[in-house]
Amino acid sequence: MLIHLNDVLSCEEKTISRTVDLEMRSFDSSLGSFPFIRKEAVELTITNLGEEKLKLEAKAELTAAIPCDRCLEEVETPFRLAISREVDMKQTAEGRIEDLDETDFIIGYNLDVDKLVYSEILVNWPMKTLCREDCKGICKRCGTNLNHGSCGCDTAELDPRMAVIAEIFKNSN
Ligand SMILES: [Zn+2]
Ligand SMILES: [Zn+2]
Repeated sequence: MLIHLNDVLSCEEKTISRTVDLEMRSFDSSLGSFPFIRKEAVELTITNLGEEKLKLEAKAELTAAIPCDRCLEEVETPFRLAISREVDMKQTAEGRIEDLDETDFIIGYNLDVDKLVYSEILVNWPMKTLCREDCKGICKRCGTNLNHGSCGCDTAELDPRMAVIAEIFKNSN
């Protein structure tokens, strides 16, 4: 959703507060598309700091479904975001790109709330996602989720260290 900034920009020290619904239903990135299971409205505050600088503060809470890295079952992953950014409105879009300032959430004199939240989710995206610390993953042979029980596949030979141990036991009998 776009918030017009003209109003707050026209008056120094002015602050506006808005409650805004997120339009995006999922987080789409090069890693895939991750649907939001829950999302709260975004609490947004914009303050005019003078000299055409704005302070953007936003609180966002949402829960995304991310597959477990090992067993691929969906893990409900909550994000509690407290966003605080300063934007210099004197900067042109080209100037921001040159400064490597990734404020693509400012479009002309509008704030794109979805893009602001998107950039924050990206920064907070977990390095790894596990349904539980000791997730057993899936069988590499038959695809059974090993958290729900074993599949009976002979997986010993997949691991060379296990093959050595099995050989020792065979010889000792
Ligand atoms: Zn798992
Ligand atoms: Zn199996």
